[in-house]
Amino acid sequence: MSLKLTFYGAARTVTGSKFVIKTRRSSVLTEYGLFQGHRKKALEMNSRIPEDALSADAMVLSHAHIDHSGNIPRLVAAGFNKRIFTTPATIDLANIMLLDSAEIQERDAEYANKKLEEKGEPLIEPLYSIEEAQAAGRSFEPLDYHETREIAPGVKATLYDAGHILGSAQVLYEIKGRRILFTGDLGQPQLPVVRDPERVPEPDIIISESTYGDRTHTPVAEAKERLQGLLQDAYERKAKIVVPAFSVGRTQALVLVMHELMTEGRLPDMPIWVDSPLSLEATQVFRKHPECYDKETWEYLKQDKDPFGFFRLRYVKKVEESKALNHINGPCVIIASSGMCEGGRVVHHLKKTIPDPKNLVIITGFQAPGTLGRRIVEGVESIRLYGEEFPLNCEVEVLNEYSAHADRTDLINMFKGYDPKNVKQVFLVHGDERQTLALGKAVAELGYEHVEIPEVDQEFELR
Ligand SMILES: [Zn+2]
Repeated sequence: MSLKLTFYGAARTVTGSKFVIKTRRSSVLTEYGLFQGHRKKALEMNSRIPEDALSADAMVLSHAHIDHSGNIPRLVAAGFNKRIFTTPATIDLANIMLLDSAEIQERDAEYANKKLEEKGEPLIEPLYSIEEAQAAGRSFEPLDYHETREIAPGVKATLYDAGHILGSAQVLYEIKGRRILFTGDLGQPQLPVVRDPERVPEPDIIISESTYGDRTHTPVAEAKERLQGLLQDAYERKAKIVVPAFSVGRTQALVLVMHELMTEGRLPDMPIWVDSPLSLEATQVFRKHPECYDKETWEYLKQDKDPFGFFRLRYVKKVEESKALNHINGPCVIIASSGMCEGGRVVHHLKKTIPDPKNLVIITGFQAPGTLGRRIVEGVESIRLYGEEFPLNCEVEVLNEYSAHADRTDLINMFKGYDPKNVKQVFLVHGDERQTLALGKAVAELGYEHVEIPEVDQEFELR
């Protein structure tokens, strides 16, 4: 009997997720994510299309994040014309995120070509165009949680809650009597809005993420208190509070908690500006899919028909409106993309905010080395923005509690929930090597026998 699993990305790294499971009769592709990182290497990795992926009979997508979905338009443009199964909420989110990504690809290529032209070097094409992203959107096929469907000859798939972002799923395949679980990205329990990750029944093989395989977060329950304290102090000194935001997940969680604090009278009302067109669109998708909410959000919905606080939020669409925010006085909150401060509208706001000691910048997520966000967290003396130096005098706080990812304890707890004797193989993906190796050690100590840490392009025969 032949059952093969090949990893084409997110192996000993966090991005570019994609793998193929193959039998003699059929094959299925899971994820087709974008590699992110050093420009040249990323372009090279994103341009290559594995033959196995292109010829798969079906595809399943666990959630809308770009490192899982972001290269689908290129695959479809290259001729992949099969169905892509995922939850209805993921379809809506992926559609707006892929369009946004296409705009970025086009803009980046245009910028790179200006420089290449000056040097007389050959020009590059964007990875994919807006039209190609729109075309890819037509390949999606809704599959609800807990609905089992035969997606390719001899391959059944069922989606379970992953508790990571709206619509996120763990994928359980049933192939040749084997139950193969892919966790996708797992959320942390108690994260606002989405339900907690589910325990999937009796897998034989587990392919698990390992993003925070070696790190532990502060509990979500403590985050609300801390946020209240930070915002209260900032309100009293009439600060402008800038939150560089990731568009999907964390922004909505943060907005929900701020809105709750103000509604409960624990925080004075102050304007919250959301200066990110993608966040606005994503939040509309959140409103459209209450079927994905957790119990607390449902309860909250009974008293407050507007959990994302639309009446309180001021969404900024046009660039001129965004620039006008430079002249308003605090106290106020400005949530602006991008999350790691690499480009996006947040850069303009930082220019005006960081030199004044009364202001506050709240960092809500992982900041990759080399990014502007990372330097802010490190507390450098000044920051260069658009060729000008700005002193970093304001207060900077890191609020990692709203991370959409399970931490080391959550991941180990998941493995404790399964019986190591019944699981024949474990594959750990989606983590920097150090994180993945650390989790691998812990999983082996629980009694799991065949724990593999795949390399890119590595193929395994399944037991
Ligand atoms: Zn994710």
